Amino acid sequence: MSNYHIKHLEEYYQVYRKSVRNPEVFWEEIAEEHFMWRKKWDNVLSWDFTKPEVKWFEGAQLNITENCIDRHLYTRGDKTAIIFEPNDPKESAEHITYKQLHDRVCRFANVLKEKGIKKGDRVCIYLPMIPELAISVLACARIGAIHSVVFAGFSASALATRIKDSECKMVITSDGSFRGSKTIDLKGIVDEALDECDTVQNVLVANRIDSKIKMKEGRDYWLEPLLDVASTDCEPEIMNAEDPLFILYTSGSTGKPKGMVHTTAGYMVYTAYTFKNVFQYREKDVYWCTADIGWITGHSYIVYGPLCNGATTIMFEGVPSYPDFGRFWEIVEKHKVNQFYTAPTAIRALAKEGVDHLEKHDLSSLKVLGTVGEPINEEAWHWYDDNVGKKKAPIVDTWWQTETGGIMITPIAFATPTKPTYATLPFIGIQPALMDENGKEIKGNQVDGRLCIKFPWPSMARTIWGNHQRYKDTYFAAFENKYFTGDGALRDEVGYYRITGRVDDVIIVSGHNLGTAPIEDAINEHPAVAESAIVGFPHDIKGNALYGYVTLKETGESRNHDNLRKEINQLITEQVGPIAKLDKIQFTAGLPKTRSGKIMRRILRKIACKDTSNLGDTSTLLNPEIVKGIMDEVL
Ligand code: ATP
Ligand code: MG
Repeated sequence: MSNYHIKHLEEYYQVYRKSVRNPEVFWEEIAEEHFMWRKKWDNVLSWDFTKPEVKWFEGAQLNITENCIDRHLYTRGDKTAIIFEPNDPKESAEHITYKQLHDRVCRFANVLKEKGIKKGDRVCIYLPMIPELAISVLACARIGAIHSVVFAGFSASALATRIKDSECKMVITSDGSFRGSKTIDLKGIVDEALDECDTVQNVLVANRIDSKIKMKEGRDYWLEPLLDVASTDCEPEIMNAEDPLFILYTSGSTGKPKGMVHTTAGYMVYTAYTFKNVFQYREKDVYWCTADIGWITGHSYIVYGPLCNGATTIMFEGVPSYPDFGRFWEIVEKHKVNQFYTAPTAIRALAKEGVDHLEKHDLSSLKVLGTVGEPINEEAWHWYDDNVGKKKAPIVDTWWQTETGGIMITPIAFATPTKPTYATLPFIGIQPALMDENGKEIKGNQVDGRLCIKFPWPSMARTIWGNHQRYKDTYFAAFENKYFTGDGALRDEVGYYRITGRVDDVIIVSGHNLGTAPIEDAINEHPAVAESAIVGFPHDIKGNALYGYVTLKETGESRNHDNLRKEINQLITEQVGPIAKLDKIQFTAGLPKTRSGKIMRRILRKIACKDTSNLGDTSTLLNPEIVKGIMDEVL
């Protein structure tokens, strides 16, 4: 029996049991039947969480781009691999077939080689969501160079930090980028960053906005003329299973970003397998993940996972609000999208605009909806379910991390019954554990604790670039022989998991542990509330008290604030308990977010404690003006 494609709940349980009883046998079967290897492994798995060291498919040889591209050429050569949807809806979309993708990746790979890039070299990619981004990622993988994609919304200093940390030899960028009605001078940002970086020898520049930019002689080259003369053949570099594929820095919600290192074989097997099952991708489907390739979601579920399955994957250059808030739905209708994967922050922003935009578009192609990045609150979940999926498209609430490489806790579409705010069940092969403060595993259901994983899975990060000790300290020191996720979770009566927030953000009030997600969830139920974040601040009697930052929907902005405060606390009392009532509620124009759209509670906590002299690493902060506004009101 092939376990590659799970179709119903009973099958999930059956395959899950098999995968945890005998992981080596299980993953060997998946790897053997569904991927292309130059040489098979000698050993499926060896691991030791105390070092920590994990190796999957040791001894195997492969190239991930052969799996993503070459092997599809006979059967799917003319199938669209990538649909590029530009920022401006008037510019036509581009359909890149698997054959064309092959040629473009090979050309690009040959340009990299010509510029002296070799196996193991680090290449920083700082590009907007244009085809060259996916192509350059794959070109690096083709020749065994380690890509480090930096989201093209980061500042020069954030870019420089990342280039220096991984000692990149090259930067790939574009003259500029389009983002809604704005253009951004990307090359200028790169130039500024490179003033501080001495490892970079060359900069390749794609022409996206036709702007006149400065090119430094001997360092900077326009890409197009080089690609034009490059050959469309490039033999793939034969990689070992555990050779690094890429470095990617975490979002920086909790502190200094970490350069997570992912390796080749295990990452490929796990991202492909999760993609196929979580989203139930079928051959003719069009799949769209709205993330940027600068985040792990884009790496695993725009590029590698979909392409490994021969899927059609959309890359969208723009933003949900341009030219108006109907853009996502226009794209869904235009390309007849079947699977749509986005983040709670986007859902809340769209919900804030009402349903008029949705009603103008035919969304009947949608079969599966996904969410990732933060806990999704119940109201947003229902809005998504009712208005986007029309109650017919299951929502897969996928919990995972940059460190995990692939989706870890999630429903399998059509198989797992969904439950709002619950990521539900561990994916095949994943063994979660909830731990108490004393380092003991909490067994049974209807319990909550710190979320750990007790057995290796193929796509886990192997180290932090250049700092294995930090890797060990961050993930393997808190609990013996377990990977610690940093998140808190509860397990309900049937064994479903709900992520309650980051453990760092858990607030202890009068001796009770309170996760942020359930309380924010209650606040967000209020019809006038758009978004909220809670943090703790010191309190003489309770130890800690709760401070809520709340943004209102436009319709709620004229409401009496004192009444709103009462109503919000009433909701919290009903849904969580009086212990979780907020001592302070501040209405704000917005919340500080990371560039990937996550609420940064650590900054809000500092403000609530009036400790604003040092806000910590703010290089990943999207909206400093909001922080300033909130501070001005408090101080
Ligand atoms: P940093 O580790 O640098 O602080 P980050 O944790 O935001 O940044 P990511 O790896 O992008 O970086 O995000 C992973 C985190 O996002 C998870 O640990 C979890 O807190 C949150 N998360 C992701 N998906 C979900 C989900 N479906 N439900 C709840 N939380 C989620
Ligand atoms: Mg994290």
